[in-house]
Amino acid sequence: MLILKLNIKDTFSKELPADPVFKNARRQVTKACFSYLTPKKPSNPSLIHKSPEMMDAIGLDESVATQDFLNIFSGAEILPNTKPYAMCYGGHQFGNWAGQLGDGRAINLAEVEHNGKQWALQLKGAGETPYSRTADGLAVLRSSIREYLCSEAMFHLGVPTTRALSLVLSGDTVLRDMMYDGNPDYEKGAIVCRVAPSFLRFGNYELLAARQDVETLKTLVDYTIKHYFSHLGAPSKEAYVSFFKEVAVKSMEMVIHWQRVGFVHGVMNTDNMSILGLTIDYGPYGWLEDYDFGWTPNTTDRANRRYRYGTQPQIVLWNLLKLANALYPLIEEAEPLQKILAEYQEDVENGYLAMMKSKLGLVEVDSNDGLLIETLEAVLQRSETDMAIFFRTLSKFDSTGGGLEMVADAFYKPDEIQGEIQKDWMAWFSMYAARLKLETQSNDQRAKTMNTINPKYVLRNYMAQLAIDDADKGDYKLLDELFQLLKKPYGEQPHNEKWFAKRPDWARNKVGCSMLSCSS
Ligand code: AMP
Ligand code: MG
Repeated sequence: MLILKLNIKDTFSKELPADPVFKNARRQVTKACFSYLTPKKPSNPSLIHKSPEMMDAIGLDESVATQDFLNIFSGAEILPNTKPYAMCYGGHQFGNWAGQLGDGRAINLAEVEHNGKQWALQLKGAGETPYSRTADGLAVLRSSIREYLCSEAMFHLGVPTTRALSLVLSGDTVLRDMMYDGNPDYEKGAIVCRVAPSFLRFGNYELLAARQDVETLKTLVDYTIKHYFSHLGAPSKEAYVSFFKEVAVKSMEMVIHWQRVGFVHGVMNTDNMSILGLTIDYGPYGWLEDYDFGWTPNTTDRANRRYRYGTQPQIVLWNLLKLANALYPLIEEAEPLQKILAEYQEDVENGYLAMMKSKLGLVEVDSNDGLLIETLEAVLQRSETDMAIFFRTLSKFDSTGGGLEMVADAFYKPDEIQGEIQKDWMAWFSMYAARLKLETQSNDQRAKTMNTINPKYVLRNYMAQLAIDDADKGDYKLLDELFQLLKKPYGEQPHNEKWFAKRPDWARNKVGCSMLSCSS
C-alpha cells in the first residue's frame, strides 16, 4: 500500500474547465484549461537526488519509503484520489505568436496544501501529452540536472522561482540532436518533479484571448485572483487592472533579481513567463561570467540575441504588453493598462538603479549615482571581467585606494588592463572612493551588507556541466556537492573556495558551458 501522506487539495483541475477528451494524442484543445492524461511508465526508474527543503515544504518527511517516493515521482504510479493533467497555453516565441503550445512534457500530478501554502507538483519529462506537438514528451539527464540544481540555487539566492523536489532517471533512452547539426544521439532520460504554487504562464491567458474565448478567460482570471491574489477581492474591472499591476510588479522584481545575480534566462517567450513572477522553465539559461550586456547562452537565439542579458528588463515589458492585450477583453479600456506599462518602464529603471547601488554598498542618495553606475558598466565591459568575483571582492574596498589590485582576480585577461582601460578603471575607483565618503556606514558594515547581495557562489555553466558529465557515468557526488554548496551562496565556505574562481579556459567555448541549445 502506498504511504505518501500528502494533503491533496486540487483547485486547478477542480475549478477550471477540463478537456472532455481523455487521450494523450496530440490535438487542439478548446474551451478548456487542461487535459487529463496518464504519465508514461518508466522502464527502470531510479532516484538520483531529492531536495530535503522541498520535502519539508510539501509535508513529506524523510521516513517516506524510497520505493513509494520513486513510484510517484517517476510517473510509475498515480497518487490515490488524483488525476494528472497537462495545462493548455499558447505563447509568443521569439516575438511571434505561436498558437497553442501547452505542457508538452510537463504533467501535473496534484496540488497539495501544507503549512497554509498551496503547491502544485509537476513532473517534467514523464511522457507525451495532447500538447507534445512534434516532440516526445521526454527530458534528458543533462537538462534535468540543470533544472534541478538551478531552481534550488535560485531559491537560496533569494530569486523568485519554481522549485525542484526530485531528480529521477527513467531508465529509458531519449534521442536528441543536441546542437541541431544532424548528429542525433541517445541520452539518458530523466524526470524532475518541480513544485510551485502555480505553473500558470502569460500564455495561458493569451491563448484564450487569441481564440476569443472570453468566458473561459474570465473563469481563469477569476480563479487566479481567488487563489493567488485574493486580497484584490471579488471579480471586477478594477480587480483585473490591479491584477495586471501586481503581475507587472512581480515580474519586474524577478528580472531585477536576475540582473543582480547575473542570470540569463535564454528563452523569455511569453509561455515561459510565470503569472506569479517566478523564474520558470530552466532551459538554455546561463550565468554571466564575463560581464557583457550582449551575452546569451542560447545558440538558438544567436542571430538576434533577443534574450541577451542587457535586454531582459525590456523583454519583460514586451511580454507584459502581450499579457495586457490578453486581459483587455475583460477590461475593455486600454488606458489603465497603458498606464501600468508606462509605470513599469519608470519603476524598472528606478529598481535597477537601487539594485546596482546595493551591489556597490551605497545607501545614501546622490544625484551622480546613475553616472557612477553607467561608468562602471562601461568599464566592466571593456575587457573580460567576471561579474561574481568583481562584485564580491569589491566589498573589501576601503576607499583608501588600491581598488584595481583588489579586484585583479576578476579579470580573464589581466594583460589587457593597461593603458586606456587601466586609466578608466583608476578613474572609476576614484569616483567610487569619493562617493563612499558620503556614506555613514563603516567599511565593515558595508562589506557585510554587500556580501548579502553579491553572491559568492553561483551555478556557473561549467560547474553544472562537470556534474552532468559525472552523472552521465553514474557518479552523483558532484551533483550533491553543488547542491549543498548552493544552499549558502552568500556565505564564506573556505572548503569550497575552488568554486569561487573564474571559468576555466577549457570551458570558454564548450557546448554546455557557454553554448546551449534548446534541445533538452
Ligand atoms: P520551451 O521553449 O522549452 O519552454 O518549450 C516550448 C514548448 O515546447 C512547450 O509547449 C513545451 O512543452 C514544448 N516542448 C519542449 N520540449 C518538448 C518535448 N521534448 N516534448 C514535448 N514537448 C516539448
Ligand atoms: Mg516552456
